Amino acid sequence: MERTVGIFQSLKIFENRQAVVVGAGVSGLAACRFLLSLGARVRLVDAKADLPQDVLLKVHADPASVGLTLEARAHTPSQFADADLIVLSPGVPVKKLATVLKHVDPKRVVAEMEFASWFLSEPVIAITGTNGKTTTTTLVGHILEHAGLSTFVGGNIGTPLCDYLMAEKRADVLVIEISSFQLQNCRTFKPRVAALLNFSANHLDYHLDMEEYLQAKLQLFACQDHGCLAVIPQALRKELLARGFTKAQVETFSAETQFDCPGLPGAHNRENIAAAWRMVRPFGVTEDQARAAIAAFHALPHRIEPVGEAGGVLFVNDSKATTLDSVCAAVKSYERPVRLLLGGVFKGGDVASLLPVLAGRTASIGLFGASREVFEPVLAPHFPTSWDQTLEAAVRRQFAQAQPGDVILLSPATASFDAYKSYTERGRDFARVAQALMAESGGAG
Ligand code: ADP
Repeated sequence: MERTVGIFQSLKIFENRQAVVVGAGVSGLAACRFLLSLGARVRLVDAKADLPQDVLLKVHADPASVGLTLEARAHTPSQFADADLIVLSPGVPVKKLATVLKHVDPKRVVAEMEFASWFLSEPVIAITGTNGKTTTTTLVGHILEHAGLSTFVGGNIGTPLCDYLMAEKRADVLVIEISSFQLQNCRTFKPRVAALLNFSANHLDYHLDMEEYLQAKLQLFACQDHGCLAVIPQALRKELLARGFTKAQVETFSAETQFDCPGLPGAHNRENIAAAWRMVRPFGVTEDQARAAIAAFHALPHRIEPVGEAGGVLFVNDSKATTLDSVCAAVKSYERPVRLLLGGVFKGGDVASLLPVLAGRTASIGLFGASREVFEPVLAPHFPTSWDQTLEAAVRRQFAQAQPGDVILLSPATASFDAYKSYTERGRDFARVAQALMAESGGAG
């Protein structure tokens, strides 16, 4: 007998069925490829009207011959009416589609990651949280590899899970980063190990409130049973247990860890390391193996990344800090006075929560670009605060007033879309300005 696949009774059920994939990004295209390999017809829909038809060539050399089509325009109910299955790309929040999916059976709507998980037999470690997902996911993969296990690291980062399914190579363990958008309509996903790294304000421009955001995160644990492991912060233990959030065994972590990692500064990273250790232990990794692997690990680009020094002033790129909590984590990582660059598309939270952390650590604040009206009223009464239209002007202004020993820290607390395509572009722009200032002042890079 064939095994059940998600909501379907057998793999064959996909043959000649109509699937709709929402979002033509990397994961959406991977889902199209995989669905076609199962024999489904696939309609790719994307709200970007200017998306060229030839995006389909990334999926198949002859799209028409396999029933692959693209509809690039605002979504309508008719695009979904005949769908046997609707697969959402990671960046597509199901709530935003509520009106067009009104008449669709919710069981037929699935995130790309959950859809792919229906076909996996390998153990999965799934990691979520407001901050530190990419760092910790990469670290967990690094430790497992170091201990001799073949590992696939992906999901939200790097290779989509659907592409893993299409590849020949199988891994011993899959380590997957997963966001609240993907978890929101998760129904069957059952990772062997699931971790919530932390939880603070984020995406409140999308989620109704913190409760809805937390509910989405907790979906990760909902299908786990007693053979699984749930890893959560010590600080959340009481509240989560009171909610009966999982049937899995529960382990907690805090910033206390027996491991040193010079390449990952700050108490927040000690939490990430402590969580990673709990996640790898069930796979037979020894403490010595973990110690050696962790000692050799380095911060990823755009996450508290030193980019150079001029006249004793250190430039640090933390462009990936898109939440207030990650800003606090970065500022706390330095003993030296910080000149903090903030600005961009604010995603919600209480700016006043920065005050106790910034007090005594922050020499000045350079606002730039969007959200001046969010930051200035709260911060200007407490710190010397300026605003500039561009990041470059703000960096130059901070450098002009900096003293040797200071840190100029880009940790913007925002998404970058007011002025950049991505946080990486914003981080590169910061590094470019820093390099220019180093060259102008004859400082070493
Ligand atoms: P994510 O994938 O969740 O966005 P990243 O590892 O890319 O997480 O890090 C994003 C930002 O959060 C960076 O600025 C990083 O320094 C910061 N950060 C990493 N771990 C934590 C943590 N445990 N708590 C608070 N901030 C963190």
